[in-house]
Amino acid sequence: MTIPQDPVLCIDLHCHSTASDGALTPTELVKRAAEREVTHLALTDHDTISGLAEAVSAATVNDIVLISGVELSCLWRSHTIHVVGLDFDPDDAEFREALERQKRNRWDRAAMIAERLSKLAITDLLERATKEAGGDVPGRPHFARVMVEAGIVKNAAQAFKRYLGAGKAGDVKAYWPELQEVVQWVSAAGGLAVLAHPRKYKLTATKLRELTADFRRAGGQAIEVSTSGQSSGDLGFLAELCRREKLLASQGSDFHFPGAPWCEVGRIMKMPDGLEPVWHHFRQVPGVDAPV
Ligand code: MN
Ligand code: MN
Ligand code: MN
Repeated sequence: MTIPQDPVLCIDLHCHSTASDGALTPTELVKRAAEREVTHLALTDHDTISGLAEAVSAATVNDIVLISGVELSCLWRSHTIHVVGLDFDPDDAEFREALERQKRNRWDRAAMIAERLSKLAITDLLERATKEAGGDVPGRPHFARVMVEAGIVKNAAQAFKRYLGAGKAGDVKAYWPELQEVVQWVSAAGGLAVLAHPRKYKLTATKLRELTADFRRAGGQAIEVSTSGQSSGDLGFLAELCRREKLLASQGSDFHFPGAPWCEVGRIMKMPDGLEPVWHHFRQVPGVDAPV
């Protein structure tokens, strides 16, 4: 895997900070990106833009262009799908309300997980899991850590196997909105909706084509063609899908934490030729205008 792109631009449009499940603060993340010669970065935390303001300040200091971003959870035929929103107006009131609803969905789910696991008799399970999540809404990995600490299981893998994995008591689905709805939120706030990491949903090729077609019909504009952990076969398949559906192409590392050699901010496989980059359609972002 090589450092991407033409020699001038290094663009990463998918990564996480402590505002969701990333390990670095927005400031640390932007600094790390700058050190890796990223020129354009979108912070795309799960269902929140609470890290955006800090990232914008850090971007000014580090001479990086920061693009507004978020990664939204939604449903398509009962599969949980992720849509990355890019270059929207972060002050859009309706968009902010929609993000608040997403947050409530997450808290409702966390409360339900704690409820379902109450027979384990861990005192203050929800509070402790929340603490594990740094005060934010806890997900299953945070519950797993509390169980390990409480001596109920040996490790996180065992916690998932017995209590949190598919079909177990703590396997609670969140009530996410439909794909069409979240695409609409992003468009209404002036942004571009990107179908994130299409290979991660473990859909068959046929299903993935149907998802992509539905996404485009809903107003989705791009798919993430290049992301971490893909084979070159995946890259070729997604490029072809992108061309066939006449969608724009996006790229992002989906960076969460340092130390994973397969996933580093700014390290993205070069996209195949003949695709129209999503950043050529950003509103007013320096340095990424479409070539005339
Ligand atoms: Mn994540
Ligand atoms: Mn995702
Ligand atoms: Mn992500």
